[in-house]
Amino acid sequence: MKNKLKRFTTSLLPVASNRQGECNRCGECCRLPFPCPFLRYDEKGLSYCSVYLLRPPSCRKYPRTVSENMTPETCGYYFVPAKELVTADESV
Ligand code: SF4
Repeated sequence: MKNKLKRFTTSLLPVASNRQGECNRCGECCRLPFPCPFLRYDEKGLSYCSVYLLRPPSCRKYPRTVSENMTPETCGYYFVPAKELVTADESV
C-alpha cells in the first residue's frame, strides 16, 4: 500500500528518460495491491483497461521510475543506466 501511495503522489512528475520497452499487457500493475475494477482480459488473456481513455496519471505513466517499478519480473518496460542512453546525435 505504501508503494501505491507513492505512485499516486508522484504521478504528475515526468516519466524517467531512461525508461525503455513497451507495455506487454501482462496486467500486473493493475493488480496492485488488488485487482482494479476496470481491469479486463481479452480472449488471448491480455489485459486491457475498460476506461483506458480516462485512466489516471498513475496508470498512464506506470512504471514512471525504476524505484516505482513494482512488477519488474513481468513488465515490458525496463530502465537503463543513464550512461547507456544513446542520444540522437551519437547514433549517426
Ligand atoms: S506491468 Fe508493465 S507490461 Fe504489465 S500491464 Fe503494467 S505497464 Fe504493461
